[in-house]
Amino acid sequence: MRAALRRLADLLAPSDPDRVHWLRSTPFLAIQVAALVVPWLAGFGLREALFAAGTYAAGMFFVTAGYHRYFSHRAYRTSRAFQLVLALGAQCTVQKGVLWWAGHHRDHHRFSDAPRDVHSPSRGLLWSHVGWFLSRGREATPLERVKDLARFPELRWLDRRHWVPPLALGILVATLGGWSLAGAWLVGLFVLHHATFAINSLAHLWGTRPYPTGDDSRNNALLALLTFGEGWHNNHHWSPSSARQGFLWWQLDVTWFMLWLLARLGIVWDVRPGPREERRRSVRAVRTSPARLAGAVLAFLLLVAPHDVRAQAVERFTGTARGRDGAVLYLEEHVVELDAGRPHSAVTLYRDPAGEPIAELRTDFAADPFAPSYAFKDFRTGATEAVTVGERDIRLEAHHGSRTMARPAHLATGQGLDRMVRDRLAALAGGESLKVDYAVPSRLDTYEFRIRARSADGDRVRVRVELGSFLLRIFAPELDVEYERDSGRLLRYRGASNLSFGQGDNPQVEITYAYPPAVVATGEEPVNHVP
Ligand SMILES: [Zn+2]
Ligand SMILES: [Zn+2]
Repeated sequence: MRAALRRLADLLAPSDPDRVHWLRSTPFLAIQVAALVVPWLAGFGLREALFAAGTYAAGMFFVTAGYHRYFSHRAYRTSRAFQLVLALGAQCTVQKGVLWWAGHHRDHHRFSDAPRDVHSPSRGLLWSHVGWFLSRGREATPLERVKDLARFPELRWLDRRHWVPPLALGILVATLGGWSLAGAWLVGLFVLHHATFAINSLAHLWGTRPYPTGDDSRNNALLALLTFGEGWHNNHHWSPSSARQGFLWWQLDVTWFMLWLLARLGIVWDVRPGPREERRRSVRAVRTSPARLAGAVLAFLLLVAPHDVRAQAVERFTGTARGRDGAVLYLEEHVVELDAGRPHSAVTLYRDPAGEPIAELRTDFAADPFAPSYAFKDFRTGATEAVTVGERDIRLEAHHGSRTMARPAHLATGQGLDRMVRDRLAALAGGESLKVDYAVPSRLDTYEFRIRARSADGDRVRVRVELGSFLLRIFAPELDVEYERDSGRLLRYRGASNLSFGQGDNPQVEITYAYPPAVVATGEEPVNHVP
């Protein structure tokens, strides 16, 4: 008898973090049942249908503009008063506190479709739809992910008592409108829940993938229509901090329109419009050249640095380049400006072993992720080199003094790969090789990375990777990466380059980078920096 009771207790309130906590899920389950029973008992006519539709529309606005685009991604700014309105409105949709929602959602973007993803459908459709939401392991608010929001005592209060706004609203509706309107309200909530959850489940399974985001996020027009724009989910994973998710004119994004309206009224401001260059890129055919191949490799070398999703951050890390004989050739100092974890621009200062500046490279990743614009200056010879990425061509302007420092095309890079590095290190540790797809509108390129050696020491995993093709190995023979098993956080990184400063023709240079990078600044405004 006692054993049976214990089994029942464990079923209702499990200790396993991956199981549904039925007892604490009662209010949510009650809404699901009541949404079917109450309208059936109290009646459901045109008035009720309109009220349910109104509940749905208002609720969807607060889910996408509130929980998602504001609290999770800080895609626009507003007053503290309207922030509170957004929090109250969002929580009236019964999807827990705004801190809880944003914290778990930021985690989703950090690990999307990797083993540590909060709600990847790779763990089952039902799990990604609703199981994770009710699971024991996801009950607590991950406060370390939402420090920016937890500064506000009113938000912390609402997060702890997340049931207060919906309960108050429910009582108000039932008192003023009677049982039939209360039933309609529940119907609106029910449909709203499943439309919201469909973004976590179906929008990672069903639709197109125009952007190489490194996860399974999809664009789906039907879901976008139902969820006021959230269905452009591949766009969103590509540019998470954009307030606009429909990048093209025909990609209907009702929430973006509402935010535009609120901005005109002065209620919200600094609404991030979305990457215009990327919108353009998706309609432009991108040619793939050997330069882009080299870019893929250098992307691995350059973009391995970011390991944390922040709205905006400036990170600094250093590298030491040695020739084949082990002598120090030059020192590198990188300052990278990140937007939601992706490099946006970078300044690299090269110094000789005595610390004297040799050259400077300013890179702008925003225009074309496959070939960033850059400006290089050699301080000793006065040589400059600039590459600009235009609508139709990539232009190079160079005045070589004595020698070209690096083949310009080799500095091309790819933003898809940094996601691969960050999110798929676990996959690398588990398998022998890893293929990376570079999806560009005109074609799909695949690069293969093979494990040469792997070792683990406690929580640290070290992987040595070589590139699958002989041609690519000329650019970068081997990568040596060490990271934390659980967090995927990079601890050490060594790569190679053919970048040289007057030490013979393209000698293979080995660079050891000091990781993890130091965070110089974080914030919502782009930070200007001087190396
Ligand atoms: Zn997603
Ligand atoms: Zn998101």
